[in-house]
Amino acid sequence: MTTGNAKREHYQMLIGGVWSDAADGRRFDSINPFDGHHWADVPLAGDEDVDAAVHAARAAFEEGPWAAASPSQRAALLRRLGDLITERADDLARVQVLENGKLIREVAGQTRALAGHCYFFAGIAETTHGHTLASSVPNMHVFTVREPLGVVAAITPWNSPLALLLWKLCPALAAGNTVVIKPSEVTPVSTLLLGRLIEEAGFPAGVVNIVTGEGATGAALTRHPDVDKIAFTGSTAVGRTIAATAAERLARVSLELGGKSPNIIFPDADLPNAVNGVLAGVFAATGQTCMAGSRVLVHQDIHDEFATALVERAKNIKIGDPLDPETEMGTVACLSQHRKVLDYIEIAKKEGATLLTGGGRPADPALSEGLFVEPTVFSGVTNDMRIAREEVFGPIVVLIPFRDEDHAVTIANDTPFGLAAGVWTIDVARAHRMIRRLRAGTVWVNNYRKTNYIAPFGGFKDSGLGRENGLEAINDYTEVKTAWIDMGNQIKDPFNPRA
Ligand code: NAD
Repeated sequence: MTTGNAKREHYQMLIGGVWSDAADGRRFDSINPFDGHHWADVPLAGDEDVDAAVHAARAAFEEGPWAAASPSQRAALLRRLGDLITERADDLARVQVLENGKLIREVAGQTRALAGHCYFFAGIAETTHGHTLASSVPNMHVFTVREPLGVVAAITPWNSPLALLLWKLCPALAAGNTVVIKPSEVTPVSTLLLGRLIEEAGFPAGVVNIVTGEGATGAALTRHPDVDKIAFTGSTAVGRTIAATAAERLARVSLELGGKSPNIIFPDADLPNAVNGVLAGVFAATGQTCMAGSRVLVHQDIHDEFATALVERAKNIKIGDPLDPETEMGTVACLSQHRKVLDYIEIAKKEGATLLTGGGRPADPALSEGLFVEPTVFSGVTNDMRIAREEVFGPIVVLIPFRDEDHAVTIANDTPFGLAAGVWTIDVARAHRMIRRLRAGTVWVNNYRKTNYIAPFGGFKDSGLGRENGLEAINDYTEVKTAWIDMGNQIKDPFNPRA
């Protein structure tokens, strides 16, 4: 599937089991955000390629070995894929770093953990079942079965390309669907490498297809009348467009969108622990995580002490080559995102926020080629400022003081988003109260940014629709069918002799 030399690699996409170029031959580049090197190129799929991929997925769904596969056979393929991901985790991790500038030490662990998703959903393939219902209608045996939806379009962003793909792919395949993947234009190659493992695991041709391209390719896929479900992770703006497209033909849709998550520090918290949690919560992946704790609400009694400790640590974060295991923060993923993050720093300054540290590109000339932004902390922020309301998706955190628990809840919930929240306190009763009062899909207490295949993840409000991971995820990839069997009239209704 690759041709060419080590300097620049050429990739093809996967349609109906065939590694293919775009029908019109167009291609685009993958650019390493650390050194600007155009290290790979991939096909730019047009409508014709999208149509071919959806047809291949439909054919594999309707007939052939996948349509006839038992749950155990689907599970076996998922387990084999998990094994292969473990074997090739280092290669998969390295390519993601080349594509998006995320730290190798972060991506390596995240990639190895993906095998767990395959094994978990293999188990779900074998245990998903319907119910026999306690029928109140005489002589009727009523039961439900869960059936696959058909063709699933999986559209992913660039910040965690493989993790966010596996969150969709595993439940989709466990349920017996077929899939067309459209990875982000920033990170197509890692998904194509995964495609190679999917093939090697033995999934029949057409069960998983990959079309590479930009937003227009994604739009062609979501518009396609033969796509039954769209599973999307990305920005709220694109999510809204996709929801509207899906609504026209009532396609199923699940959306994992943006966030502006509050991380709330009470005065009784273990402060060094909270500082660690806030740092990792917002500066990991250079702030490019949907769940970034980018609004830090700090009780007014400890605000200054907390700010001093946070700034001290932020200043000492080691920025550099994301492939160096010693580096603590890499680049942002692409040029447009770099501009956007720097713009938000200017917006915050104009709004009157106080810059405590960071605020631009690092001064080190050795880093001048890379899309770096310093870890940036603002105080003097109120919750009505744009820097407190809009998702930046970069290494910027704002500090907002609060008076008491009610005030913290009011500020935390005063946002269009509802993806996640953090609470730092040693008061167990307060922790439970806060979990109930915060309008967010995940609440972490004395930790932040933990996710796992066992735990449903998704958003309230503008942060999305549906849940990925956990037992619930399978519901978003299946339809419930109800069956009524008339057992004959030999069993009389004792309460209605004339029936
Ligand atoms: P994006 O919305 O720009 O793009 C996401 C994907 O959608 C890409 O593959 C893109 O090509 C495609 N796309 C763009 N326009 C489209 C259209 N009109 N129709 C169909 N597809 C289209 O997002 P991004 O910049 O790649 O990623 C960052 C965003 O993703 C952030 O807002 C972040 O919060 C969000 N995100 C959410 C989660 C979550 O789980 N909630 C996780 C990671 C990232």
